[in-house]
Amino acid sequence: MKAIAVTPRQKDTVRLVEMDKPKVADIPNGRGVLVEVLRVGACGTDREINNGEYGVAPEGFDFLILGHENLGRVAEIGENVKEFAVGDFVVASVRRPGKSIYDLIGEQDMTTDDEYFERGISRLHGYMAEFYSESADWLVKIPPAIVEIAALLEPLSIIEKGISQAFETQERMKIWRPKTAAVFGTGTVGLLTALAFRLRNLEVHAFGKDKREGYFNADLLEEIGVTYDSTMEISTADSVKKYGEYDVIFECTGYSPIAFEAMQALNQNGVLILSSVTGGDRKIDQVPADKINQQFVLGNRLMFGTVNANRQHFEMGVKDLALSEAMYQGWLNKMLTHKVEGLENFGKLFDILNNAAANKAIKVYFEVNKI
Ligand SMILES: [Zn+2]
Repeated sequence: MKAIAVTPRQKDTVRLVEMDKPKVADIPNGRGVLVEVLRVGACGTDREINNGEYGVAPEGFDFLILGHENLGRVAEIGENVKEFAVGDFVVASVRRPGKSIYDLIGEQDMTTDDEYFERGISRLHGYMAEFYSESADWLVKIPPAIVEIAALLEPLSIIEKGISQAFETQERMKIWRPKTAAVFGTGTVGLLTALAFRLRNLEVHAFGKDKREGYFNADLLEEIGVTYDSTMEISTADSVKKYGEYDVIFECTGYSPIAFEAMQALNQNGVLILSSVTGGDRKIDQVPADKINQQFVLGNRLMFGTVNANRQHFEMGVKDLALSEAMYQGWLNKMLTHKVEGLENFGKLFDILNNAAANKAIKVYFEVNKI
């Protein structure tokens, strides 16, 4: 079968490779599921791996099959798989358990291990292939009514985790009813986050770098009742004067100084969720340290980081995909801006991914097989 691979830690090595078709029997205890891949989304992670920034090949291989945002159809099941049938639509999660106690209880998104096992990213082959086999334990069933948008489930799962952790942590308040939210960053993650907050009936304000004029992502945000402001035109401090302090803030810009501004835009008892992986070594001056510290203390404010997602967050995501179709029918489909048919056209996919802004691309994805 065809697959798309890179040589990790080397620049621009993305290529088509020929692999043996995986088998149900590759997975122990009769729990295997063979999945025919239908769609695989691509994102900054795939771009950065192909740039040689990170990524680890599985043991015994000198290449890594890419792809973590997936949608497939069950082609075959092992004898101990009762929860899926041939023909079911499924999405697989990404991280597999390592050794820490969190991994052992199925909370591998909270691992304390330094080595990750993530399909398409680290030590495990990904989903940019015609088939994959996986344990039924790591698959989530997709209702046919939302299959067209289900390739967005993996990125949405990251947000579901962040938001559910915020609500869980805020149980310290006994009563916490957030009314306003801010989202910093308006790429794929920012759009999905703004949507998730709207589905929870919050007043949502989104902020991105792009000017409002001609910015498609801002059009989409306004369609679901979210305001958009360019950070080039309004400072975070001025946005607070305009909209008030935010009960919950989700930061996903990839630009760490915004996190320090967000700390100062938080309402009393508010919570700031940080999700940007900022690999650089940027330093900033003039952080009002006393002020931020005092606000956090006197206002019982909270800030935490979040990464990855576990099974329950994928399941929450399925419900939110369905709710989104009920509330804003067709909206998520508009995020699927660029379809590339056939794995052999990987050059085209990476071209769009590498020039996402010029292409006005929100989500570029492979259609490996027709739904
Ligand atoms: Zn991704």
